[in-house]
Amino acid sequence: MRRISIFFITCIFLVTPFFAQTPKNHSPSDIFHEIQKLNFLGTALYIAAHPDDENTRLISYLSNHVHARTGYLSLTRGDGGQNLIGPELRELLGVLRTQELLAARRVDGGEQLFTRAVDFGYSKNPKETLEIWDKEMILGDVVTAIRKFKPDVIVNRFDHRSPGTTHGHHTASAMLSMEAFDLANDPNAFPNRLENTDTWQPKRLFFNTSWWFYGSMEKFEQADKSKLLNVDIGTYYPMLGLSNNEIAALASSQHLCQGFGRLSSRGSEEEYLELLKGDMPQNNSNLFEGINTTWTRVAGGKEIGTILDKVEAEFNFKDPSVHLSDLVEAYQLLQKIADDHWKELKSKELRAIIEEVGGLHLEAFTSQGYSNPGAPISLNLEAVNRSNKKIMLESVFINDAILLNEPINLKDNKLFQKELKFNIQESTNYTGPYWLMEKGTLGTYKVTDMELIGKPESPRAFTATFHLSFDGVKIPITKDVLYKYGRPDKGEIYQPFEIVPKATSMLKDKVIIFSDGTAKQIPVTVKAHKDNVKGMVRLRIGQEWILDTPAQAFNIEKKGDEQTLFFTLSPPASEDEAYMTSIVEVDGEEIPKELVTIAYDHIPTQTVLMPSEAKVVRLDIQNAGQNIGYIMGAGDDVPTSLEQIGFAVHTVYPEEITENSLDKYDAVVLGIRAYNVVNELSFKQRHILDYAKNGGTLIVQYNTAGRWADQFENIAPYELQISRDRVTNENSEVKIIAEDHDLVNYPNKITTEDFKGWVQERGLYFPDKWSKEFTPILEMKDEGEKATKGSLLIAPYGEGHYIYTGLSFFRELPAGVPGAYKLFSNMLSVGKDNLSKKKQIKG
Ligand SMILES: [Zn+2]
Repeated sequence: MRRISIFFITCIFLVTPFFAQTPKNHSPSDIFHEIQKLNFLGTALYIAAHPDDENTRLISYLSNHVHARTGYLSLTRGDGGQNLIGPELRELLGVLRTQELLAARRVDGGEQLFTRAVDFGYSKNPKETLEIWDKEMILGDVVTAIRKFKPDVIVNRFDHRSPGTTHGHHTASAMLSMEAFDLANDPNAFPNRLENTDTWQPKRLFFNTSWWFYGSMEKFEQADKSKLLNVDIGTYYPMLGLSNNEIAALASSQHLCQGFGRLSSRGSEEEYLELLKGDMPQNNSNLFEGINTTWTRVAGGKEIGTILDKVEAEFNFKDPSVHLSDLVEAYQLLQKIADDHWKELKSKELRAIIEEVGGLHLEAFTSQGYSNPGAPISLNLEAVNRSNKKIMLESVFINDAILLNEPINLKDNKLFQKELKFNIQESTNYTGPYWLMEKGTLGTYKVTDMELIGKPESPRAFTATFHLSFDGVKIPITKDVLYKYGRPDKGEIYQPFEIVPKATSMLKDKVIIFSDGTAKQIPVTVKAHKDNVKGMVRLRIGQEWILDTPAQAFNIEKKGDEQTLFFTLSPPASEDEAYMTSIVEVDGEEIPKELVTIAYDHIPTQTVLMPSEAKVVRLDIQNAGQNIGYIMGAGDDVPTSLEQIGFAVHTVYPEEITENSLDKYDAVVLGIRAYNVVNELSFKQRHILDYAKNGGTLIVQYNTAGRWADQFENIAPYELQISRDRVTNENSEVKIIAEDHDLVNYPNKITTEDFKGWVQERGLYFPDKWSKEFTPILEMKDEGEKATKGSLLIAPYGEGHYIYTGLSFFRELPAGVPGAYKLFSNMLSVGKDNLSKKKQIKG
C-alpha cells in the first residue's frame, strides 16, 4: 500500500486557524481563562471506548465553564474502523485517531488518556470484548489512570447495565469504570502498579444518559429523575466569543477520518447525568457539590489562593504583565507544598501563565524534519521578552545537557538568537508511537515501560529547558524541540522533529499471491534518511521459498532519495503461507522496518516505523473467465487482489455503463457499499441487471440496509431484504449447506478448511429474507445466536447469474486468506463450465 499525503482543508480552519504544532499566541482573554482554571482544584474524567465516543459538549462544559481539569479516557485508539480521508488502516489508523483526539482536546480544553486495549473490530457483547482485551490488564490500566489523574468525578458515556444493546467495547468501558471506581483506593488491588502513584478514591460516578437510552422522549419524560443531574451545556463564553456548543462542534469535527465534521448548534441545551456511585448533590446541576475545589484543599495552599484569587479578581486586560510578580510569588510558595500531585500540576499551569503574561516567546527548532542517532544537529534558540519586567535567561538545557551557560538579560523586546550544534547520542531511540514498538496481541498493545502506559503519545526525543530568573526567582520553562519551516503556499509550519534510522526499506505489496509455481519479481525500495548511505538489503523468508540472491548492495547519495532493487522469489511446489521481511543493513545495524508518514493538516505529521513485512501465499487455485469489470463502491482493494491471481480487472465508471456495455466482461463485481455511496448507479441498475440476464455473472458485495437512493425498489432482480445480521467472530463455524452447488465445486473444491484463518469477522449486513430463486450456500453464526444463511446467495437470472454476498472479502483478500481467494474465484467462474460445455456442443 502506498502512503500518500493528503492535505485536507475544511472550513474549521477558517474559524480556528491553527496548524497542529504551531505554538499558540495567548490573548488577555485566554490568559484570564487559564487563571480561572488555575484557581479551580477539581478534576473530572470521562470514560468511553473509542475516538468519537466522547461527548465534547460535556467535556468542553466541564473544562471551560466549570474550569475543572477534564480528561477523556478512551480505552482504545480506534484502530478497527474505516478511514474516510486516506489509506491508513489498523495500527496506522490508531495513530491517526490518537492525533485527532489530541486535536479535539486542544479545542475543548480537555486532556487525553488511553489504555493498552486494541480496537480489534466490532464486538457484539462485553463478554467477548473483555476476553480479547485481557480484562485484568485493561482493568489495571483504568485503575492506574484513576490513581494518576485523581478525578473527583467520573462520567461514563455508556450504560454498564445493557450488554448486547451496543458495541461490546462500549458496555465493557462502563463496566470497567464501575469496577475501577471501587478498586482505585484499595492498596491490595494492582499493588505492583503503586510504585509511582498512590491510591485514590473518586467521589462520584455518573452515567451520561440521554432520552434515547430510554427508548423515547415520552418514556424519558415519565422516568424517575431523582438520581438525575441536568446541566445546561449551551452556555456562552463572552470572553472567548464562542458558545460551549460551538467549541464542542469544532472539537468533534477533528475526527475527520470518521467523517465527524459537523455543524454547530446554539442556545440552551440540557445534558443528563445519572448518579451511579457516591452521594446525590442537593443542587442537581453541580457535579462537584460538597467537594472543595479551592486552594484550601491543599495543605499550604491558602496563601497561594489568596494571591491568585486577587489576580483573578483584579485582572488587568490591558497589561497582564502587571501580575507577573504576584504570579512568581505564588509559584515560589507552590514549590514549598508537600502534595506532589497538585504541585506538579499547578506548577505547570502557572509556568505557562507566567510565560504568557511576561510576553515571553521561547522556542528551539531545527530546520530539518528528521535526523539519525550519532548525527550532528544544529538547533536554533530564540528568546524574547516583550514586557518591561526584568527577566534573565540563565541557561538552556537540551534534555539533561547544558548547552548555553551564559546569563542573558532579556529586555526591551530585543530578540536573543543562538545557533547550537551538538551530536545526537548514539543511544537515542527512534521516535514513533510507543505502543507500536513491540508486537502485541489481538486485544492489547505490548508496552514494556510501565511509565508510558496511559500516555497519549511518546515523549519527544528532545526538549529545550529555558532556565529563567524573575528577580532572582528561578523558573524553568520546557519546550519540545520542533522542526520549523516556511512554505510559500502555507506560511510558517511547525512539525515534530523525528529521529529515524539511516535507511529503511519497503515491500510494495503487503500480500503477494502465487496462484501457481511461477516465480515472481519482488521489488524492494530502500529509502535513505541521510546523505551518502550505503549498505545491503536482503529478504528473510522460510527455506521452502527460494530467492535468486540472498542480498544486494545499495548506494544512495541524497537524503530522501530511493533505490528499488528486485529479487526473484520462487514459491514451494505445494500450498503454503509465509511472512517475508526486508532488512536493510547499514554500518552494522540491521533495520527490518518501513518508515510510514501520516500527514494531514489537522494533526502533526506522524512518522511510524512498521515491520517491513509481506505475507506470501502459494495457492493451488483454478480460475475460469478472465475479464472482470469492477464498479467501485466506498473503496476496497479487491481488484488488486484479483489481479494477483491472474484476472484482468477493469474499473468500470458508472457514467460509462450503457446498454450492453458490460457484455464484454466474464463477470461484473460491485465494490463494497456501491449502492450506498454511488448515487448514479440508481440510473444504471437496469443495464447492470440486464448484463446478468444476458448471460453475465453479477456479484454484489455488502451494502448497508436501506441507505440507497429512493429509486431502488430492489438491488436484486428478485426480492432480497438486507438486515443487520452479522457474524463477527472470524473463527465461527461455517457449514456448507449447498454442497453440490457449482459455487463450492467449480473450479475449486471448497471445504470447511477454506474458512480457517479468516480475519476480523465473517461478514456483515447479511440478507434475512429472499425469494425462492435464491440458493443459500453457507450457514454460520456467532456463539449464542441463531444461524444465518444469508452470507452468500445465488440465483439464476435469464441466461446468467446474480450473486449477493455479505462475506468480508474486502478484508480477507488483502489479508491473503487462501480460502477467500478460492471462493471468490468460484463466484467469478459461475456458469463458465456450462458455457464451455455449450460451446463444445454447438461446435
Ligand atoms: Zn464507539
